[in-house]
Amino acid sequence: MAAPHEVRVILQDFGKPDSHTIGVYEAGGGYKALKKILVEEKDKWTPDAIIEEVKKSNLRGRGGAGFPTGLKWSFLPKGNDKPKYVVCNADESEPGTFKDRYLLEELPHGMIEGMIIAGLALNSNHGFIYLRGEFYLGWQRVEAAIKEAYAKGYLGENILGSGKTFHLATFRGAGAYICGEETALLESLEGKRGHPRLKPPFPAVKGLYGCPTTVNNVETFAAVPHIILKGGDWYAKLGVGDPKSGGTKLFSVSGHVKNPGVYEVPLGLPLKKLIYETCGGLREGRKLKAVVPGGSSTPILTADEAENATLDYEGMAKLGTMLGSGGLIVLDDSTDIVEFTYRIAYFYAHESCGQCTPCREGSRWVQDVLARVRAHDAQSEDVDTLLSFTENMGNGTTICPFADAVVMGVTPIVKKFRPEFEAYLQRTEAVPSGT
Ligand code: SF4
Repeated sequence: MAAPHEVRVILQDFGKPDSHTIGVYEAGGGYKALKKILVEEKDKWTPDAIIEEVKKSNLRGRGGAGFPTGLKWSFLPKGNDKPKYVVCNADESEPGTFKDRYLLEELPHGMIEGMIIAGLALNSNHGFIYLRGEFYLGWQRVEAAIKEAYAKGYLGENILGSGKTFHLATFRGAGAYICGEETALLESLEGKRGHPRLKPPFPAVKGLYGCPTTVNNVETFAAVPHIILKGGDWYAKLGVGDPKSGGTKLFSVSGHVKNPGVYEVPLGLPLKKLIYETCGGLREGRKLKAVVPGGSSTPILTADEAENATLDYEGMAKLGTMLGSGGLIVLDDSTDIVEFTYRIAYFYAHESCGQCTPCREGSRWVQDVLARVRAHDAQSEDVDTLLSFTENMGNGTTICPFADAVVMGVTPIVKKFRPEFEAYLQRTEAVPSGT
């Protein structure tokens, strides 16, 4: 059952028995968008028409970057005789983010249909789904769903008698967070070490095997069939905030709320409504301390800042943060903010791929300083030093935005909650257990 303020589009079959199977998906209108393009209105739906409809919807990349999807597709060169590839980034591993996992395990056909439509829009015959290696059930369900789609004639040669071809295969990653960065993902998919590439050239021009490629997120692809079926304008108007943020968005809400989980709400919904009405509010007797709005790499909001925040790209930008992947972490006043920050820093120091010195060394220094604060073994100057070297870690000095992610995840917490870091320097109790 939908929670307050939920508008279920992508999640329309969520919670139904066997929601991952093609029978349930078709019963809810699944693969009708594909039939519309290839059979019922085949003269209307040229590749350009598909891209224009997606542009109209204001759908933006749901993996974290928020780049307009239709525009991204339009960057692939036309009239190029190289093969083109459609790649799904299902390597979800940002702390706090777990919405794609639900789609892979419970609703894989929406993503598959969206990828086939992307293939038609981009004149591509091949797609790959790059899955986080730990998503074993998700991988099994996606594999089974691909087999079902082949059996029904939605994948393969001559789809629905149209003469069009699209093949789809899965690839399991080996557990590196950086493979969620699209060029590292492509390197890994080619069988190499998952190191980000220097850009430009961007994947639209030189992607998988040196060929034009689009890389989009699971949720992004899953929205596409609904846009084709009901129209880009319809989808755009589902948003209730800034018009540039169209449609609905999945939020994976974790932390100190009564009902954590994955929710689909209109973009632009006030953050407080999501926390206090959709998720049932905070635990009894607790007050809101802070919210991480879009996964661990998005700058934290204090309770005051969260008061009037809206869940759209523009609303978050006004507050100096980002909507990111929609991995919303709610922290109440019982949170030890130093411990929380250390956990984030530990994760990033572990996951840096090591190619760039500012990132490789800087992420380790951040962890080391925070470890000393946590152990009551630091001076106030150490916190200043941390803030000073994080200023030089990102800002375009590295191959990929990972270093910026470390800075955005850690620095605003230290700045906004500095008194709690200072208090740690005064105390002498035992170091908290764990790493
Ligand atoms: Fe690797 Fe970090 Fe450089 Fe990205 S910024 S390429 S993760 S070292």
